[in-house]
Amino acid sequence: MVSNKNSYAIKGNIIYSTTPDQLVLIENGYAVCENGICGGAFAKLPEKYNGIQVKDYGDRLVIPGLVDLHMHAPQYGLRGFGMDLELLDWLNTYTFPEEEKYAKEEYAKKAYGMFTEELKKSPTTRACIFATIHRDATKILMDLLEKTKLRTMVGKVNMDRNAPEYLCESTEESAAQTLQWLKEMQGQYKYVEPILTPRFIPSCSDSLMKTLGEIQKSQHLPVQSHLSENEGEIAWVKELCPAAGFYGEAYEHAGLFGNGCKTVMAHCVSSVEEEIALIKRNGVYVAHCPQSNMNLSSGIAPIRKYLDEGLHVGLGSDLAGGSSMSMFRAMSDAIQVSKLYWRMWDQSASPLNVKEAFYLATKGGGEFFGKIGSFESGYEFDVLVIEDESIWHPQELGLLERLERVIYLGDADNIVEKIVAGEII
Ligand SMILES: [Zn+2]
Repeated sequence: MVSNKNSYAIKGNIIYSTTPDQLVLIENGYAVCENGICGGAFAKLPEKYNGIQVKDYGDRLVIPGLVDLHMHAPQYGLRGFGMDLELLDWLNTYTFPEEEKYAKEEYAKKAYGMFTEELKKSPTTRACIFATIHRDATKILMDLLEKTKLRTMVGKVNMDRNAPEYLCESTEESAAQTLQWLKEMQGQYKYVEPILTPRFIPSCSDSLMKTLGEIQKSQHLPVQSHLSENEGEIAWVKELCPAAGFYGEAYEHAGLFGNGCKTVMAHCVSSVEEEIALIKRNGVYVAHCPQSNMNLSSGIAPIRKYLDEGLHVGLGSDLAGGSSMSMFRAMSDAIQVSKLYWRMWDQSASPLNVKEAFYLATKGGGEFFGKIGSFESGYEFDVLVIEDESIWHPQELGLLERLERVIYLGDADNIVEKIVAGEII
């Protein structure tokens, strides 16, 4: 008999993925939490749980927390404007001048305060987050995120070339600041972890990448960056790294591309076959960011192909290439762009369906954090309880239809409870 005060059951309409095409739906079921870990989901509460506290949410939907594999906290202020340019011009015109402002503590506190407030209310329970090159501002962001109790990985960005003077570190400075940042944050956080964050190959010299590779090896840190997002970017990497056969190999040469180094790469819109093969071989995670890819006219990543190949794929908002941080929106965008890809580009690449998009936003991306994103036994207990009464409908609907409507029409206001690793936040 389980009778721990840290154990409880959530009663409601339980929905979770086991594989990309397997969705479990349990009407009026139970999801059990034992000390932050899921004991499983059931139609009837097993006898061993007799007597544990049951939080009854009635007819509400109970789903795993959503995972955002790629976002830029300092771009919060850029949401929803400046979408008239492609990636490289967008960075120079809008993004870099905004990121410069984080050199000032006062601005960082104000802007990151707004960002964390919104993230806390959003459907996201776990996120991989870029900060800026600034060490102090990155710590401000981490302090604020720690208070939310969300589980996040945050990176001080590295840039030592092809950036405006105000955002360009020397190679030595970039490495030294990163080491200093890692040292200062040791033991400071329970919920926030560091992640190495070379912005992308055009911003990082070979020698900086090599040093970051050494830091990765000695401290066993995860890595996040960008890959094959835009044609101009890809051509530029070819010029900058003649020794690399393709873009991903430039990361691989530094030891920052999976294969024992936990890595997530955003976009992979235009990855060549050799690159896809290396992503697969090295177990690199792809963060699919459809809204950003539309806004910056980058294209459509071939997610059907990646799923068929068995790649690790999750979703990212790519705030603020993506204007919305809602992972509900990321799911519907992923479905919609896959339909255009199928219709316009490759009739053999069937569009993603609701189950697959839901998998990507939960277990697909969640695996980057560990056993996350499902109510299978042994998974960390991340939960969203969602009310959909306010998304009016006159007719009777099944659970899958109700989930689909939340994905297309839901927002932060529909979340009535948010739980991370068993803890209500
Ligand atoms: Zn990005």
